[in-house]
Amino acid sequence: MNKLLVISLLALTPTLLLKADRMLIETESFSDHGGWKLDTQFIREMGSPYLMAHGLGNPVKDATTTIEVKEGGNYQLFARTKDWVARWEAKGQPGRFQLIINGTPVKTTFGTRGVKWDWQGGGKVTLKKGKNTLALRDLTGFNGRCDAIYLTNYKEVPPNDSEILPDWRREMLGITEKPLEKKYDLVVVGGGYSGMGAAISAARMGCKVALIQDRGVLGGNGSSEVRVWAKGNIRRGKYPRIGEIIEEIADKAKKSPGTYEEFEDEKKERIVRAEKNIDLQLYHHAFKVEKKGNKISAVHAFDVRSSQVTRFSGTLFVDATGHGTIGYLAGADHTMTEKGRMGMSNMWAWANKEKAISFPDTPWALDLNMADFPYPRDFHGQWFWESGYDKDPLGDAEGIRDWNLRAVFGAFNAMKNRDGADKHPNSILTWVAYVGGPRESRRLLGDVILTEEDIVSKRDFPDGCVPSTWSIDLHYPKKQYAKKFPDNPFISYAVHGKGVDRSYGYPVPYRCFYSRNIENLFMAGRCISVTHEALGTVRVMKTCGMMGEVVGRAASICVKHDCLPRSVYEQHLGELIELIKLPGKAFRLTVNDKITIPSDAMEIAGPHGAPNGLDPKKFPGVVDDAKASFKGKWTKGQGLKPYFSYGYQYSSDPASTATFTLEAPEAGQYDTQIAYQPHPNRGKSVPVEVRTGDQRTKLITVVNMTEKPSFKNGFHSVGRITLRKGQKVMVELSAKGAQGNVHVDAAKLLPVE
Ligand SMILES: Cc1cc2nc3c(=O)[nH]c(=O)nc-3n(C[C@H](O)[C@H](O)[C@H](O)COP(=O)(O)OP(=O)(O)OC[C@H]3O[C@@H](n4cnc5c(N)ncnc54)[C@H](O)[C@@H]3O)c2cc1C
Repeated sequence: MNKLLVISLLALTPTLLLKADRMLIETESFSDHGGWKLDTQFIREMGSPYLMAHGLGNPVKDATTTIEVKEGGNYQLFARTKDWVARWEAKGQPGRFQLIINGTPVKTTFGTRGVKWDWQGGGKVTLKKGKNTLALRDLTGFNGRCDAIYLTNYKEVPPNDSEILPDWRREMLGITEKPLEKKYDLVVVGGGYSGMGAAISAARMGCKVALIQDRGVLGGNGSSEVRVWAKGNIRRGKYPRIGEIIEEIADKAKKSPGTYEEFEDEKKERIVRAEKNIDLQLYHHAFKVEKKGNKISAVHAFDVRSSQVTRFSGTLFVDATGHGTIGYLAGADHTMTEKGRMGMSNMWAWANKEKAISFPDTPWALDLNMADFPYPRDFHGQWFWESGYDKDPLGDAEGIRDWNLRAVFGAFNAMKNRDGADKHPNSILTWVAYVGGPRESRRLLGDVILTEEDIVSKRDFPDGCVPSTWSIDLHYPKKQYAKKFPDNPFISYAVHGKGVDRSYGYPVPYRCFYSRNIENLFMAGRCISVTHEALGTVRVMKTCGMMGEVVGRAASICVKHDCLPRSVYEQHLGELIELIKLPGKAFRLTVNDKITIPSDAMEIAGPHGAPNGLDPKKFPGVVDDAKASFKGKWTKGQGLKPYFSYGYQYSSDPASTATFTLEAPEAGQYDTQIAYQPHPNRGKSVPVEVRTGDQRTKLITVVNMTEKPSFKNGFHSVGRITLRKGQKVMVELSAKGAQGNVHVDAAKLLPVE
């Protein structure tokens, strides 16, 4: 038997002393991942992070590493992998790759066997004494994957363990010593919007915080990896300061999926790292909890590149994993809608090049022609490329992701190689998310389980705080595209329920944000205490982020008073409300310090949010529609730009009138003007009456609002009038006889020179 000493030469990891006659080399620990992607999504299903060759049909650059072997000789080689389409008995083996040892390819082609993750034998290989190079060589560009490589003197196949870091892996990797120890007030797991909101908010209120995120970037679905734009209105409702932190970190993407740059991963990380109270742990996957009684005492997370484990002990914990993983591990009460859930999406993008370009035939992908999927307009496959409604989103998320990949590649194959080929000779896939965007899985139960009925009946909870402004938006498989694959349709449609006040928002109660039986566990994001239907409104990312903001403030109260999340509701609700009324930038270094409001704190918004149109204060004499008086039925709008402050109102109800009251600052002649934006459905003959309070002067003008107004920012003259200093004048727009919608944005008196 050879005596071997294998040392991994990793920049990222501590030196690994591998067992002498058996060697385990985790691919995630390769010193250079080349073009292979580090996939951490399915650790709980198959036991480990892995490398995947996501090349959109072009083989990716080799992943390489060096191992040091004490004694040369022959070894049995195994790679843990699978044929990722075998479970569907699809033709072909898209995930093929080779292992290159010291520059020579091993004969076996890997990724060609097995429905499940398992060790594929590679026969006998020879290693030399000293340094040996290993490389993973992708052969297809179509998502070949490799978890680990095993070299042994024995004939036995290594254990195919899907447990996370089971003893044998730890022993093989030489990580037998105790985990690293760290201690915090608050341990936040999950670095999406909800986790970021919680961590920043708690840190600014004086808590020592760990933020544990298993990807290399922050943002979760709102990162450049998944590219969902952050939606939901912020800074409004009962407590319009909530949302100021999210305003700092949120993307301003113009499309979803947008470009890499639009998701501003670096900005998010910079804002988090600027907080001295936050210890940001990227690339760390939380996999185990320790408990004392009904409380969590520590979370164990391992570095997804080196497998090094750290024990994060804390007073309080936040589950912001989206899947309620921490709660589940701790035995928190939870629920999951069994079937008909909202699914997972892998969005995608394509472009046209100047020259013709080929795309490999994909016989293993979904068998699609152009009529089988919605044409990806605007060069992107949007949110409705969604599947897995009845599949297991926790135990088989990899299967759902892989099905999505088969759908995207099948559709692009139809565009390039089938009945779409004539129109797409120059088309190229530019991006396909390999990190799936989940929407719904496990939810943890709190003292309140919010329902659709609570929301639409506007049930007023004393702790209602986070404004949820998205409609109750639930997704279902789209029948038209479900015919070929009824078992797992891949295109959805959305049904938007009514009843959510999208401007003020429905205030979600604080009691949805902590576990009812794990006493020191908060939750924020998708895994809060709501029903499937209520998730339809609360799940958008800015709303999730605001939950985090409230949780962070509540955590600081727990630390200050040495109490638990439930006591914040029962005994300190007043204090929580005081804290959530503070600017997002307010801070204290410890929970016992005085709170400082920095000079760059945002201006408080109103109950309907911060003005996002032109600021009337900057335009002398302009009176916004918010100050006009309205009769009849009016609808608020923001679609036609520009507008002043929050938007405009429009109506075609013949009983509708809108009246502005303007005042002359000096005696003189004025041009009376109204502001509107033209649109084909606006009134062709909108009557506008201008009259003084004493009725001595009265002008009636008819405005055609389908045509462009005469002046900048929508202003249009409706008559000249001479006024005394301080005299009031009423400007009344009416829908009667208007022949379309009356558009009301602002009015002003312009002195005539
Ligand atoms: C295609 C699609 C379209 C959507 N459309 C919109 C939209 O237009 N606008 C909108 O705002 N929302 C939209 N949503 C919904 C929204 O993206 C989610 O509901 C939201 O991401 C939930 O935020 P979160 O912070 O709870 O979870 P996530 O964004 O999923 O973040 C959780 C993070 O925690 C990490 N994590 C998980 N487990 C662990 C662990 N054990 N250890 C360490 N880290 C862990 C994950 O890697 C992830 O990065 C859409 C979703 C999808 C998929």
